[in-house]
This record gives sequence, C-alpha cells and structure tokens, in this order.
Amino acid sequence: MTTPNTTEGTAAGKPGRVLVLNSGSSSVKYQLLDMSDRSRLAAGLVERIGEETSRLVHTPLTGDGGGPREREGRIADHDEALKAAAAELAADGLGLDSPELAAIGHRVVHGGLRFTEPTVITDDVLKEIERLVPVAPLHNPANITGIRTAMALRPDLPQVAVFDTAFHTTMPEHAARYAIDVETADAHRIRRYGFHGTSHAYVSRKAAALLGKEPQDVNVIVLHLGNGASASAVAGGRCVETSMGLTPLEGLVMGTRSGDIDPAVTFHLKRVAGMSADEIDVLLNKRSGLVGLCGDNDMREIRRRIDEGDERAALAFDIYVHRLKKYIGAYTAVLGRVDAVVFTAGVGENSAPVREAAIAGLEELGLAVDADLNAVRSAVPRLISPDYARVAVAVVPTDEELEIATQTFALVDN
Ligand code: ADP
Repeated sequence: MTTPNTTEGTAAGKPGRVLVLNSGSSSVKYQLLDMSDRSRLAAGLVERIGEETSRLVHTPLTGDGGGPREREGRIADHDEALKAAAAELAADGLGLDSPELAAIGHRVVHGGLRFTEPTVITDDVLKEIERLVPVAPLHNPANITGIRTAMALRPDLPQVAVFDTAFHTTMPEHAARYAIDVETADAHRIRRYGFHGTSHAYVSRKAAALLGKEPQDVNVIVLHLGNGASASAVAGGRCVETSMGLTPLEGLVMGTRSGDIDPAVTFHLKRVAGMSADEIDVLLNKRSGLVGLCGDNDMREIRRRIDEGDERAALAFDIYVHRLKKYIGAYTAVLGRVDAVVFTAGVGENSAPVREAAIAGLEELGLAVDADLNAVRSAVPRLISPDYARVAVAVVPTDEELEIATQTFALVDN
C-alpha cells in the first residue's frame, strides 16, 4: 500500500507546487503550496457562484504580494470561478501554466468503500465518484464539476482525488454497519462511511508527535469541531470508529445539523407534520444543531449571549457539550486505553469554554484540563491537561489543505 498517510516529510525538500481545490456546490476554495518547504504561496475563495453577488477573495502569501484582493460580480459557474482564480494566481506570477505546478489535489467528499487512499484521477475513477452521487448528493456533484473544470484547464497535469471518507475505511464491520436488514443496506450501500477523514488523519498523527510517540503506539480520540463536527477513535493510527455515518448528519451537535436523533423523528415529521423528505432534509441539515436551538451557529456569538444571561444560548451550549461528553465516554470504551483527547477545527481550536465543559467531570476517565493552559491562544499543537492527568488533552490545529497537498505530492512525485 502506498498510502502517504504516515509519510510526514517524505515529500518535503523536493521542488514542486500543488494546487489544492475544494469545490462546493456554490463555492471553490483554493490554496497553492510550495512542497519544498510546505509553505503557502496563495489562498483564495470564490463564493456565491451562479449568483449576481459572487465574490472572489484572493490572498497572495509570498510576503511581497500585497494584501487580499477582492472582486465582486456574477461568476456564472465553476469553470468561470476556476479561470478567475487562475487569473489571480497568474497576476502573482503563479499561473497554472507554470512548469513548477506538479499536480492538482482535489478534496472529494465521498469515496465509498473503493477509495481507501488518494487516487490519481482517470476516466474510470471519475465514473466511480459519479456512481457515489446517490450516497453524497450534496457534495460529490460539486467535487466532480471542480475536477472536470481543472482537467479541462490543465489536461496534461496529474489530478489527484483525496477522499474525506478514506481514513475511515479501516473501521471494522461492527462499527461501520447499521443494525438494519442486511439485504436492504447492501442494495443501497447504506453503512457508516464517516467524513472529515483528512483532518482526523492529520490531527491524530500530529497528536502522536506531540506526545513524542509514533502513530502506531497511541490511541487517540479526535474531536473535529468546526461548523460541521465529528469525533473519531483512532487506535494505533487506524480509525476504528467515527461519529458521522452514511452522510455527515449523524453524531455530534453541529452548527446547523442535528447530529444523532431517533430516526422515527423523520416518519413523525412526515406523518404528523406533513413534511416532505426534502423539507425534513433541510430541517435536519440546515435548520437544526446550534442554529436550530438558539438561532446562532457561531460559538463566539453563543458565548457572548450566555455572558449576557441568554437562557436559549446556554441550553444550546449545554446540549452541544453533553453530546461531546457522551462521545468521549463511548470512544474511551471503544478504545479501551486512551492516550489523548484532541480538540481541533474552528470551535475545538478556539473555544476554551467548550474544551473546559466537555472535559469537566471526566476525572474518572483520567481526563482533566488545566485552566491556565486552556486559556492560552496559540496556532501550534499544545497540551492543555495538567501533568498529573492519566490521559493527555491537546489542541492540535488542523490543516486539511496541507494534508491534501502532501498526499497529492507523495503520489505524483516519483
Ligand atoms: P468549517 O470548516 O466546518 O466551516 P471551521 O472549522 O472554520 O468550520 O469552524 C467554524 C466555526 O468555528 C465557527 O462557526 C465558530 O463557531 C467557530 N469559531 C471560530 N473562531 C472562534 C473563536 N475565536 N472562538 C470560538 N469559536 C470560534
């Protein structure tokens, strides 16, 4: 197996640039990285594609390129978005026609069971990603559009798909299968796939390094708490359990998603409230979670409201934290021995109150947070547990773009 999941450093030192593309339904995020030192040359975002109010923000990061440049006005589709981004890169002397560009790495949300590692995109691979659209209707079509557009722009260049699901394909059957009729499940490829895998892989590896150990020697619980949120249990470098399932809806309370609910809530909403499947989908994915509970999904705003005595915000926070605790306890049981609980992504990296509340009362599990260490703001991996704690608690900033670039470069650089 040539998986570069554990190849920290193998690709470094060699010349070459990688463009990382993350294509959403109405947005494209991009970063250009120099793999000789893993530095970022430029980053950008095109949002509201297809609307009159499209916006491109391009930030040169080479030091002498000036500040962010913004362009507003309709960008009709992904093709136009990528061409606009390419023009901005060219203006910085970093055009996509540069011989130094070694590959384009694409974030692809759903790789099903077939894609267990980063994969050079061929027609066959693209067809398989298309075949997975029924299990990822919101994500894979946008990823495919991004890939096709980039391939049309640079047909000669290797394009690599890095799958959000890949890291979770090591989950054992007893964790991946739902307890439903096997024939029905298999006929429709219904099982737990998990997402955010690139982040869980990167963060669990960094956490091992923070403990001064090899990934195969540690068991960690990773809590990726962004707007979307997921937990994973990683045993010796391999994912054995994760909280997202067939889709990213399962598991933790998120910014706008409910996470775990009794599935009968959906029949109830259909039968009693007369809602359609699409309406329930929107309710659970877009109007639930923190936003559904208190009207805000930004943890900073929720904390501000709590400080002002807002009870709805306080209850939303408590529900969010209660779910986190349940998963920490469950994954401790799944792993048997835990070396570290690791917080990452927007909330995990920045919200000391969430970290404190999630770990509070878990002393019996060997967990504790040191208030002073927890209050430190820093962009580097760090421990926030006191020396006496049996299990380390850490904050490890995630870097999905660097991980995609590293995996992409390791695959094409030979
Ligand atoms: P995603 O990639 O899923 O969009 P991020 O990982 O960027 O999300 O996380 C975004 C979330 O992080 C915001 O919605 C907000 O709740 C939270 N967040 C960002 N900065 C802070 C901060 N300084 N304090 C608390 N929460 C923060």
